[in-house]
Amino acid sequence: MKKKILGKTNLEVSIIGFGGIPIQNLSMREAKGLIREVLDAGINFLDTAQGYGDSEVKIGEGIKGRRGDCILATKSPCRNAQQARSHVEKALRRLGTDYIDLYQIHHVSKPYDLEQVLAPRGPIDELVKIKKEGKIRHIGITGHNPDLLQRAIEQSPELETIQFPFNIVEDGEPKRLLLNSAKKLNVGIIIMKPLAGGVIPEPQLSLRWVLQQGVDTVIPGMILSSEVRENATIGDEPLPLSSEELFRLKDAVKDLEENFCRRCMYCMPCPEGVPIYFIQELGDKVKVEAVKKMCQDMYARLDKTVEDCTECGECEKKCPYELPIREMLKEKHKLLTGIEVN
Ligand code: SF4
Ligand code: SF4
Repeated sequence: MKKKILGKTNLEVSIIGFGGIPIQNLSMREAKGLIREVLDAGINFLDTAQGYGDSEVKIGEGIKGRRGDCILATKSPCRNAQQARSHVEKALRRLGTDYIDLYQIHHVSKPYDLEQVLAPRGPIDELVKIKKEGKIRHIGITGHNPDLLQRAIEQSPELETIQFPFNIVEDGEPKRLLLNSAKKLNVGIIIMKPLAGGVIPEPQLSLRWVLQQGVDTVIPGMILSSEVRENATIGDEPLPLSSEELFRLKDAVKDLEENFCRRCMYCMPCPEGVPIYFIQELGDKVKVEAVKKMCQDMYARLDKTVEDCTECGECEKKCPYELPIREMLKEKHKLLTGIEVN
């Protein structure tokens, strides 16, 4: 497995990492077995989050006796100092470890989130204190809005990594600017959703394409042994795409590109509080059988759904891809519930 230095953290991470969302769907016994296979395949970077159900607990069980073989990253939506401290303590307990290699501030996707994160005596200042205590070793930030992440790393030298969705469909100038800025500042680059939430039909080509873009590590979700083996093989020898393979990948995603939400969040906020980008994502992922039930359950738990949309059209004025959001949301509601919205 090829490794890279993750920016100024100096951590040496496998270029294929482990995305910890889907492991929620496995039993504890299956999850432990999978984590062992992941580590045996040379994948040493494991990413999870407080918000991924029992993913932290399962990863903690899976790495028992092998803490030295892995680099553990977790995250939470901490927006003040008190939350930062209590969330880190909770993660340490759930992961069954006495240190976390990388603690990331999760889902900073609105200007107000960023204000809170950068505020004096806010979460970053507290995480710096916790780092001095040895409970976490590095600090990062994650989000879907490339402009905000760029502002974050330009304003806070304490942020050592960024994590955001990136693939051939979810590309564009703001992400390229973010990549350039991160490289200039020696900030580690972690890529989530390299398969656009599982909807890109050529997963291996997609992973290789992302690895070609100068990122440090890519963290696809995995629940099958075959996925671990296939992804690890790519990490062993990440060949650049030939022109014929690039053509194949572009051809495979051309239908997606027409009406595909890139989760940039420029359409937010919705005056009714509808989490537009999240519903778009669940509605794409629900087509993948392995995570169908999880997506339906997550949608059922939302405070606001497509049923709360008043069709004001504000979101469509702000979407840079000119997506017919209102129609898309109705389709996704039907996919997620089996019921038409009136
Ligand atoms: S059209 Fe619906 S989803 Fe879009 S901003 Fe208006 S209420 Fe929100
Ligand atoms: S609907 Fe448009 S603006 Fe909103 S997150 Fe998706 S791509 Fe971005």
